[in-house]
Amino acid sequence: MASTTRTYPQKVDVAIIGAGISGASAAWNLARDSNLKVAVLDAGPRAGGSTSRSAAAFRHQFSSLSNIEMSLLSGREYREFSKAFGCEQVFSQNGYLFLWSEQEAADAAATRVIFQRERGVPDVAMLTASQVREKFPWIDHAEMKGASWCPHDGFLKPDLVASTYLDAAVAKGATLLQYSPVSGIDVSGGVVKGVVVNGQHIAADVVVNAAGPWANTVGKMAGCPVPVTPVKRYLYFTNQIYGHAVAKWPLTVLDLEVYGRPEMNGLMMGWDSKPKKPAGWDQFPAPAIDTTKLNDDIEPGFGIGENDYGFEVLMRMAEWIPMLGEKAGLDHASCGYYEVSPDEKAILSWDPRVKGLLHATGFSGHGVMHAPATGRIVADLVLGRKAPVSLEALALEPLLRNEEREDPERMVI
Ligand SMILES: Cc1cc2nc3c(=O)[nH]c(=O)nc-3n(C[C@H](O)[C@H](O)[C@H](O)COP(=O)(O)OP(=O)(O)OC[C@H]3O[C@@H](n4cnc5c(N)ncnc54)[C@H](O)[C@@H]3O)c2cc1C
Repeated sequence: MASTTRTYPQKVDVAIIGAGISGASAAWNLARDSNLKVAVLDAGPRAGGSTSRSAAAFRHQFSSLSNIEMSLLSGREYREFSKAFGCEQVFSQNGYLFLWSEQEAADAAATRVIFQRERGVPDVAMLTASQVREKFPWIDHAEMKGASWCPHDGFLKPDLVASTYLDAAVAKGATLLQYSPVSGIDVSGGVVKGVVVNGQHIAADVVVNAAGPWANTVGKMAGCPVPVTPVKRYLYFTNQIYGHAVAKWPLTVLDLEVYGRPEMNGLMMGWDSKPKKPAGWDQFPAPAIDTTKLNDDIEPGFGIGENDYGFEVLMRMAEWIPMLGEKAGLDHASCGYYEVSPDEKAILSWDPRVKGLLHATGFSGHGVMHAPATGRIVADLVLGRKAPVSLEALALEPLLRNEEREDPERMVI
């Protein structure tokens, strides 16, 4: 039998661990803006991690300035993406509707809307309950107190985005190494020297940890654990719904809990009330989770049967969208892992413990929408440019001291 041993490059300037949407965007930004030799390594196929399991929603409606800035930056790129790369449309701007059944929550949303408008989010607004009923006649709930609404939000095609970034990076000279699990990071004298893959060493001056839910495991390879915990999340898909233009609906969130958005002419829904975060998820060091055990199993109780969590999610949605009770059934479920940081915000930061190690992780449910900004910031850090967003709020160092970073995100779903 012929030998299948692969030969890897002996030396690159930047080794990116992870060919998900974050690593892909980083590779593209570096390949476009520099002559550096970039390699992207993935244990599996491109976009085979959380990227392909994502609800892929995009919103500007955040409470923290850093997340709003990441969305503004990313939204601009996503709107132009298909033109820039000559691919099909990746961004459905159906809008994002947060519905509120309690006056206090609606009032807090109104305050956030003012903040978001002041920070440059276009057309974000509060709607009264009667305005919601008029604009979205399929929605009704006796307790509805109003909604916050942004027509420029929506949802994305994350696999296509990641794949397009990678192809473009490769066309500019980057190397994509799929099925290449990194098993070690070489460090000497407190400086990164390269990575180990399939027993071979690839020398590198910079190693980017873009390993999503596996980021803590990868950080530990350099003796640098990071507070990123994999947390399982489920998605539920209905059958196609005839007689209603579901494909045009906005992403709709009920009281910051259940959410749903079109998937063709059916609904994709999620809710995180049941799957629990492991104890200590918000601490450093993060809980020691064996990331070789991350899987796509739908655990008992999380399926689509009548006594399952998926059914609960659909019923909750039907309380606000009554026709779902009649017309929608559950078709299937899927799952994946959020890579959660202690304050549920990204870590985009050089590691203060080892020179040359850069983390691009901890997106906590926002990694798809913020990927364009992530790639840009990784390139800015590597190339010594000024980043367009404040990096203090995304720094690793305070988290290693178990301190809260400035500007924590409060709109977490
Ligand atoms: C159910 C669900 C719903 C979500 N909804 C949204 C949403 O609505 N909007 C949004 O923006 N985000 C959402 N997210 C989060 C989003 O999907 C992630 O934040 C994003 O995909 C992270 O991308 P990534 O490239 O950083 O990580 P990943 O896509 O996980 O990529 C990491 C890659 O690293 C590779 N890797 C790991 N270890 C190694 C190693 N040792 N050697 C080589 N390669 C390695 C993996 O194989 C993987 O391909 C959701 C996630 C889930 C699970």
